[in-house]
Amino acid sequence: MTKEFCRECGKPQGDNNFVKDKSRISGHKNICKKCHSHNQTAKSRTKHGLVTRIHSAQRSRSRKRQHPMPNYTVKELRDWLFPKKLFHVLFAEWEESKYDRELAPSLDRKDDYLPYTFGNIQLTTWGKNKKRAYDDRRQGRSKNGECCIRVIQYTANGEFISEYVSYCEAERQTGVHNGNIALCVKRRIPSAGGFIWCQYKLSRGVEDCPQLNKYANVELYAPEVKEKFLEGVLF
Ligand SMILES: [Zn+2]
Repeated sequence: MTKEFCRECGKPQGDNNFVKDKSRISGHKNICKKCHSHNQTAKSRTKHGLVTRIHSAQRSRSRKRQHPMPNYTVKELRDWLFPKKLFHVLFAEWEESKYDRELAPSLDRKDDYLPYTFGNIQLTTWGKNKKRAYDDRRQGRSKNGECCIRVIQYTANGEFISEYVSYCEAERQTGVHNGNIALCVKRRIPSAGGFIWCQYKLSRGVEDCPQLNKYANVELYAPEVKEKFLEGVLF
């Protein structure tokens, strides 16, 4: 077999350093991985290539969330984006920043619960999009927020104090470590930070939250914990 060379850099094919392509008899493209990845990066930094990348990311995210696919093709997305002045402004800023990821033009869904449609997308930058997702998560909005576990805080005497969208939010508001809150919710320790914590779904009534009925449930704890608990020493 004759030795093959990368069509870009001219280096000979070594061990497995060419891009695989099953549709070719040779089983690989006539370009090395390094040149290929270089080309891909260059392509994604053109307006045309950037939209291709955005569209394919939207498809893969829709699949992951089990949402319907975007209801537009990549070409329709280009036709929608290219007449927008903002797109070209953001693109120019991104180029000027030497392709800072935070400044990459990005499409944000106005309503995270709905799929990608022209009525539900707006132009923003990658950094702003990320920040919005982060804020939403902290506030307990958006799909991501659904994985947070709502938690209720009670005094040691079982009086309701407050409700939080997640353990982390409870930590930010009260200073009690979220790991300890989780241990309390799971009934490994009787209290955390001097408070009793329950999962939201258990909080409809005091009787639903075993921690609140201290003495009835003290048997749940290890002997040394039980002792401290009976002495009234809270964690
Ligand atoms: Zn090459």
